[in-house]
Amino acid sequence: MTELDSLDVSAISTSRSLMTELQSQGLRLVDSSAGAPSRRGGAGPSDHKAVTLDGVTVMIPVHTGAAFHSPFVADAPGADGRSVLRRGMIPIASITFPRQPRFYSGSTAEGVPYSHIATLHGADVLATTVLQTCIRYESRRKACRFCAIGQSLAAGRTIRRKTPAQLAEVAKAAVELDGVRHMVMTTGTPPTSDRGASILCESAEAIRAAVDLPLQAQCEPPDDDAWFLRLRDAGVDTLGMHLEVVDDDLRRRLLPGKSEVPMERYWLSFEAAVAVFGRGQVSTYLLAGLGDTAEGLLAASDRLISIGVYPFVVPFVPISGTPLEDHPAPSAEFMRSVLEPLGERVSLAGLRAADIKAGCGKCAACSTLSRYETPMAIPA
Ligand code: SF4
Repeated sequence: MTELDSLDVSAISTSRSLMTELQSQGLRLVDSSAGAPSRRGGAGPSDHKAVTLDGVTVMIPVHTGAAFHSPFVADAPGADGRSVLRRGMIPIASITFPRQPRFYSGSTAEGVPYSHIATLHGADVLATTVLQTCIRYESRRKACRFCAIGQSLAAGRTIRRKTPAQLAEVAKAAVELDGVRHMVMTTGTPPTSDRGASILCESAEAIRAAVDLPLQAQCEPPDDDAWFLRLRDAGVDTLGMHLEVVDDDLRRRLLPGKSEVPMERYWLSFEAAVAVFGRGQVSTYLLAGLGDTAEGLLAASDRLISIGVYPFVVPFVPISGTPLEDHPAPSAEFMRSVLEPLGERVSLAGLRAADIKAGCGKCAACSTLSRYETPMAIPA
């Protein structure tokens, strides 16, 4: 009997708790080349790696300071691709790493590697940052303190602007070669009042003309709500507009540029977007661990839920090279204190991850929120 065979899965408190702890504390890898390459830098959560545990793929920090000191360590994968996950020396679970996607070996006629245009997130999501520059990021004074959108560009791992034709070509390849099931398009914010909605429309049209792939677009609230209809007509199924933090003082400190867009603008945009995309098909990221209290996050979530917006509460991952690289990640206890009640509330409101057509809430790899959701009650 091998060490893997002898794992007593029932001895793990529950896979959900373990996932929450792994996302808070991170993971040390004996073999850093295991599975698909980890994400470093870029827009949104980063410096983590996709790990599959009990059939669920979650993103676990592997390049952060916390991960360096984590009690969790993954052995090098065996011949069957499985790794023993240990807490200290004690084996507690068997995990796998999604393999490197086949489409990564492709490149465009001009020689741009497909992996510089879009990457695999989670288990089956294609993700891209259409515009890898941002008016906020260009000024040290205005940049969101946790953002690393310029890092992957500076390191030559991506390109500044992905054209609609490039995105369509890569999306088609990722569906055909790797079976990706939906796609996330985010963007840095350009200096135009549409906040990037126009380039997201062009991109969606080209992708949907090439392949049948549910799409999420993510941007700041555009100046004109008419953009929501344009996005939907271009083929976008779901929309993300990300608050990240909700307390006004924190917003000013951590998102100095973005906080110039008042919260009120977000609330109005959420309502207008839900009218177009439908309840549960508009979402927002809330980063837990940056200073908002559990009560503050839950109160904001209640308001979002009442509008029909899915509050995707995600543990903050401090990304190397950003001003917040030494800011601690939230504890697993803090995450549970938010996710347990929130899972119940989104379920009761009928806004569960499983019902989202595309995007981060559906992927659910950056948070264990979906693991706290309950199936819809069947009426008697
Ligand atoms: S939740 Fe969003 S950012 Fe996280 S891995 Fe999935 S698609 Fe990527």
